[in-house]
Amino acid sequence: MNLSTQLHQTAARLGEKPAYYFMDQASTYAELDAAVTKFASGLSQLGIKKGDHVALILGNSPHFVIGLYGALRLGATVIPVNPIYTADEIGYILRNGDVKTVVGLDLMVQLVEKLHEHLPAVENYIICESGQTEANSIDISKLSVFPKLKTFNQIIASGTLDFAPVELNEEDVAIILYTSGTTGKPKGAMLTHRNLYSNARDVADYLKMNENDRVIATLPMFHVFCLTVALNAPLMNGATILIVPKFSPAEIFRLTKKYEATVFAGVPTMFNFLLQYPEGKAEDLKSLRLCNSGGAAMPVALLEGFERKFNVLVSEGYGLSEASPVTCFNPLDRPRKAGSIGQSIIHVENKVVNELGEELPPGEVGELIVRGPNVMKGYYKMPEETAATIKDGWLYTGDLAKMDEEGYFYIVDRKKDIVLVGGYNVYPREVEEVLYEHPDVVEVAVVGVPDPNFGEAVRAFVVSKNPTLTAEQLLEFCREHLAKYKVPSSIDFLEELPKNTTGKILRRSLKDQVLQVK
Ligand code: AMP
Repeated sequence: MNLSTQLHQTAARLGEKPAYYFMDQASTYAELDAAVTKFASGLSQLGIKKGDHVALILGNSPHFVIGLYGALRLGATVIPVNPIYTADEIGYILRNGDVKTVVGLDLMVQLVEKLHEHLPAVENYIICESGQTEANSIDISKLSVFPKLKTFNQIIASGTLDFAPVELNEEDVAIILYTSGTTGKPKGAMLTHRNLYSNARDVADYLKMNENDRVIATLPMFHVFCLTVALNAPLMNGATILIVPKFSPAEIFRLTKKYEATVFAGVPTMFNFLLQYPEGKAEDLKSLRLCNSGGAAMPVALLEGFERKFNVLVSEGYGLSEASPVTCFNPLDRPRKAGSIGQSIIHVENKVVNELGEELPPGEVGELIVRGPNVMKGYYKMPEETAATIKDGWLYTGDLAKMDEEGYFYIVDRKKDIVLVGGYNVYPREVEEVLYEHPDVVEVAVVGVPDPNFGEAVRAFVVSKNPTLTAEQLLEFCREHLAKYKVPSSIDFLEELPKNTTGKILRRSLKDQVLQVK
């Protein structure tokens, strides 16, 4: 079984049901499945075949869904790329990923032209109509890339419905996800059909996704959290997806109310935006049965504040690109524990180990390692990095965690984010949790910076909603709740915190700012 076959089966069962809404237009499962087959067929007429690499440089849109499933139906390997990357970043991924076909927005035509001469391996560019370019603003027939250019609609129009899906092996690579990583160049995590199918299946079952669900897809589809939790899992169980091209609180409230959405998946910063939104009413979110948080640590004060205001369960989970991504979730039928990423989902094992790889007893902090059908095949063309990450079948996550007696896991921090103050370990997350308790604090990030006396010092960056709040008041608050060595040496107030396009706070960039000033 694989994602594309599963979609075909769901369409046979629920053909007339909306698979998704986009810009208030519905598309049924039968329409989606037909578009996927035609796209696969159209690609095959261009000479694209099983094993070829197809990059999708797209935002959240039907183009992404049809492009993804269409390429998979053909047996091609899909490489999703963040469309706001620079030409250098995109060029690196297309070259490293041996991409032959690029599917991108028409807005990118000029970028493609710029890259073109450096990418001799790319044989086709498929341009999707965004509806946002001025008519005739670019005369594509004048571009040197023109002979390789086709539009998405031309590919669909040239495709036929009698296209026979290509035979797939579960170990074939379905997707290569380039993970940002903090050091060196991005690495391409190879996820097989089995990896993606099993994780979507297990997540769908664990979260009880069903035909009555309407799931908001506002996380970026090129990121694995959206891909599995808000796209593949709902489609697998016949739910309807509400595709959101760009996150905004107003749009989430509008969509939830209008379509009676039942599931919302987001990173903690999105929950924070929704909670702080002045016009946000509990009434508008009353149809939600479940909110999923993941991708970064969910501060307990935020989780509880959100549940209280909107009267909806927030279940935190955890995952990483290399695990397709989900390994843990808070269960729906047993208590959810605030601050915990929950228990291992079915078929996936999590354990906490010491430096020697030995399992630690409950309560002790060590590295979280993971095993299961969701763990990637390896990094594309990087055998050394693969061997350093997967040992004896276990994926080393680089995250520090502990487990309680009931098998609930708690992420303590990223291993590399620990701050060493005069020999003591400080976990930034612990300090952030305390600052989030302060009623005036909207957002916070804590980093370690070099210190001449203690090796490193703790530094906090805070977004406050009270202009009269002082650093001294916040430090006093910290002193009441934290041991002396954990209290930040200084607090900086910022208008907003830097985030990546998934919405994760970029501690690294704050640290770099401090280092540059020094
Ligand atoms: P990515 O591969 O981009 O999905 O990033 C994966 C990383 O996000 C993990 O290794 C964790 O460091 C972090 N992460 C994901 N979920 C959580 C969570 N619930 N709590 C803390 N960190 C998380």
